[in-house]
Amino acid sequence: ASGYSLMRDPRHNKGLAFTEKERDVHYLRGLLPPVVLSQELQEKKLMHILRQYKVPLQRYMAMMDLQERNERLFYKLLIDNVEELLPVVYTPTVGEACQKYGSIFRRPQGLYISLKERGKILEVLKNWPERSVQVIVVTDGERILGLGDLGCQGMGIPVGKLSLYTALGGVRPSACLPITIDVGTNNEKLLNDEFYIGLRQRRATGQEYAELLHEFMSAVKQNYGEKVLVQFEDFANHNAFELLARYSSTHLVFNDDIQGTASVVLAGLLAALRLLGGTLADHRFLFLGAGEAGTGIAELIALEMSKQTGNPIEENRKKIWLVDSKGLIVESRKESLQHFKKPWAHEHEPVKELVNAVKAIKPTVLIGTSGVGKQFTKEVVEAMASVNEKPLIMALSNPTSQAECTAEEAYTWSEGRAIFASGSPFDPFEYNGKVFLPGQANNAYIFPGFGLGVIISGAIRVHDDMLLAASEALASQVTEEHYKKGMIYPPFSNIRKISANIAAKVAAKAYELGLASHLPQPKDLVKYAESCMYSPIYRTFR
Ligand code: NAP
Ligand code: MN
Repeated sequence: ASGYSLMRDPRHNKGLAFTEKERDVHYLRGLLPPVVLSQELQEKKLMHILRQYKVPLQRYMAMMDLQERNERLFYKLLIDNVEELLPVVYTPTVGEACQKYGSIFRRPQGLYISLKERGKILEVLKNWPERSVQVIVVTDGERILGLGDLGCQGMGIPVGKLSLYTALGGVRPSACLPITIDVGTNNEKLLNDEFYIGLRQRRATGQEYAELLHEFMSAVKQNYGEKVLVQFEDFANHNAFELLARYSSTHLVFNDDIQGTASVVLAGLLAALRLLGGTLADHRFLFLGAGEAGTGIAELIALEMSKQTGNPIEENRKKIWLVDSKGLIVESRKESLQHFKKPWAHEHEPVKELVNAVKAIKPTVLIGTSGVGKQFTKEVVEAMASVNEKPLIMALSNPTSQAECTAEEAYTWSEGRAIFASGSPFDPFEYNGKVFLPGQANNAYIFPGFGLGVIISGAIRVHDDMLLAASEALASQVTEEHYKKGMIYPPFSNIRKISANIAAKVAAKAYELGLASHLPQPKDLVKYAESCMYSPIYRTFR
């Protein structure tokens, strides 16, 4: 290839880091100024530029530009500065980027499959330049973070998630495929926006929707085989539960909002038990929000309790209570409940307000998954603190504006006794001379390692026990030193090591369950996982 096209190809471009020899051999002489920089110096320079942008969206756009210009440098930055850059390429900034996708849109990333492509989805897949895809992240844009229906502009989510698959889980960029399925949007603002990039119609539902998704799932299997992992992301809950139920026995599917969230929250709970004492089954749980995240987490907690105690899952579910927009989910509401809420309708009189539910149920753990901000009021946190020595409070709704409470509020209102974790990051907070490091129950702890485990074992189905294995692996990475600072998750700076450990445990479970197809099983799965991980260090061209 000519030097010019080498420089224009983000997969090969090294910018000023092309060596003298490469410049000679690949016709790059004159196309670059004389200096030769190391990748480290390029990284230093870019971090310096990024830090000068005070507006988060500018940082996001600068990162996207870098990804399109020099892929390895993009991943080097992301890997080496993960704590600083995660909030840029992922929640919360990615949410704002999706909201403004129409106006910041420059070059398309990923694949767009809309109703216009009905009947031709296999052809569309063949337009994608990469043949050996291992992970697809797909959204239909109906419930982007806690921001609602963003239609076609949801593309920012699969793109962001897959860059984390690579940076945190070491899956090769060329093996990652972001897809947005556009069946319309019910977002009036977008429908009236002259710059909207998607189909200008209301969402297709029912049979029309199901048929398009079925064509998509069939085409994926036909084009990429049994071992491609399809991650559903930010679908509205009615579709999310149905798609997962429909395809989990025929395809390798994973819903991050249901299963990934459940696994990461369970990991935090398992870790927190060392601070709280008792076993999982000794605790009582109350959720605000009974959707994908809430019921997904609740179900995995009940499953883990069953593994630990041998008690039937129905019995364990009774220790878990959920509140939705109509109040506490109780037996008398059962008939009118959506099917995924029914298992949680326990015997109790109706309770409307969260604070009254806290007083009535006296939970040891309070988890927010409603998507609605500021619901853990002073009264609610005080009620938790009055019945618990160490109330465990998780405010999971994203982005930051939707968090049920802030770290500062949780620590202050509980007089420094709360163990707190949130979905979006909060800064450390000092209370009465003690510095608390709030944990981030971020799905990014789990899905990259989980996906890597699925890939290296060649698993053909996802099993709930693989999710439990991931939770246990993550919880085991929390050390005494972390606990002392109030953390129930390990720091993100070690995430590649954490992902390799999760991948090894997930793969081991897949082998144990007979779901793995890469045989024989490697002896040391942690080492094997590490050896499979993508490195962003430049290669030398000969
Ligand atoms: P979802 O399926 O739409 O569920 C939302 C639930 O919240 C529904 O049960 C809804 O009640 C309930 N709700 C809404 N407004 C409420 C109110 N004012 N009071 C009480 N309940 C209310 O959404 P999801 O997928 O579970 O996601 C919810 C939130 O969790 C989002 O903000 C998302 O970003 C966040 N999340 C965080 C993580 C993480 O931190 N790791 C992971 C996944 C999701 P009805 O059923 O009555 O409508
Ligand atoms: Mn999501």
